[in-house]
Amino acid sequence: MKVFNTLTRQKEEFTPIEEGKVRMYVCGPTVYNLIHIGNARPMIIFDTFRRYLEYKGYEVNYVSNFTDVDDKIIKKAQEEGVDASEISSRYIKECKKDMEGLNVLPATVHPLATQEIGGMLAMIQTLIDKGYAYAAADGTVYFRTGRFASYGKLSHKNLDDLQAGHRDIKVTGDHKEEPFDFVLWKPKKEGEPAWDSPWGEGRPGWHIECSVMSEKYLGETIDIHAGGEDLIFPHHENEIAQSEAAHGKEFARYWMHNGFLNIDNQKMSKSLGNFFTVREIAEKYDLQVLRFFMLSAHYRSPLNFSAELMEAAKTGLERICTAAEYLTRLLKAEQDGADAPMTEEEEQLYEQAEQYQKKFEAAMEDDCNTADAVSSVFELVKFINTNAAASNSSAYVKKLYDKLETLCDLLGIIVAPKEEILDADIERLIQERQEARKNKDFARADQIRGELAEKGILLKDTREGVTWKRA
Ligand code: AMP
Ligand code: ZN
Repeated sequence: MKVFNTLTRQKEEFTPIEEGKVRMYVCGPTVYNLIHIGNARPMIIFDTFRRYLEYKGYEVNYVSNFTDVDDKIIKKAQEEGVDASEISSRYIKECKKDMEGLNVLPATVHPLATQEIGGMLAMIQTLIDKGYAYAAADGTVYFRTGRFASYGKLSHKNLDDLQAGHRDIKVTGDHKEEPFDFVLWKPKKEGEPAWDSPWGEGRPGWHIECSVMSEKYLGETIDIHAGGEDLIFPHHENEIAQSEAAHGKEFARYWMHNGFLNIDNQKMSKSLGNFFTVREIAEKYDLQVLRFFMLSAHYRSPLNFSAELMEAAKTGLERICTAAEYLTRLLKAEQDGADAPMTEEEEQLYEQAEQYQKKFEAAMEDDCNTADAVSSVFELVKFINTNAAASNSSAYVKKLYDKLETLCDLLGIIVAPKEEILDADIERLIQERQEARKNKDFARADQIRGELAEKGILLKDTREGVTWKRA
């Protein structure tokens, strides 16, 4: 399998450090608001890549953090008059809801920066001891960028150019030795969350957080480090400098970066105000459509968000789901002959269908080309629509269904028709809820309301009793 490595700017053969295992770190969001659909792009892309690695038989240790201490979180907390931790825990919860809607699998670990301060203090101390960092008079600890000889290797920037570029910038009020030195620890300001440290009370810089969480959960050298391309410089460049200076070994072997999600050809971002939250999109579309839209483009290309492209994604996804429903209907109708084996002709036809899986795999093997993988799913759909009929054996129909489901599952797309709940079952559950309420078992009553809501059944308590409708 080949992946494009930002470090070498080439597609390279992927070989993990340890056979059969992949250690992967994906930089997660800063949690001060609902995530926007730009933030969802790396989540969807790298979740899909992970699914493919697991399909190939790798055991994937997938770590993705939440940055839960940051200027923006603190600002929001001050505006609302609450603790920063209240803001971050609220938006972590909301982010996890969005991830679930997007069918993004939970990471093996979702570490929180604020829970890893001890490790950060230790790494900063190591960097100071090795001469790679220094504490300034005001309690700020800086990384001595000029000491790290290969600084710039990821972003392909030259330290001399950086130095020249910075020379004209006069930064007042800081105590850096050099303008491009970056912060590892910042001293506390009034009203901000802070932790004790040998350099005074304060909080960590953003870059050190990821270096430490990656080391703790994945080890000193990992296979893949990933994120959006805006993170290449300075975030990932600084992570490399910190980790490699501290450990004296390579930090990550493959660096994967997704392109931007744009709107009107401009990066979608909170600061530009040109964003849609995942929640807003969920009001209009099933979030599977958003996932499918993202996967229909190559992950390294910029992707322009537009209503037309979302509509096209919706139509495309419907075509796939319709084929799955068609096969399900055929299977239901054929229950009598359920044991009928495939005919020779069907065996041959099925071999053709196998080709689409091969094509899908070839696309994914070529630097996670989900756009081509999606095309091969469409080819399979076309094949199903022309080569499956009521006259076929159920073994053949079932195999086609399984094939379609397997490929869609790799994309994180669910094709199985949602289970319909029957009217009689709804009535029975409402009856049970009434009984529970009579017995003051409100927990059970709420649980039943929740179960029904999940299936799209909304209850209304009226004077005449309970009425219900399908959402
Ligand atoms: P942030 O919360 O800004 O640190 O972003 C979390 C993740 O979302 C990072 O991997 C970013 O690179 C990524 N990201 C943010 N905005 C976009 C965008 N418009 N398109 C693609 N990825 C983005
Ligand atoms: Zn990071």
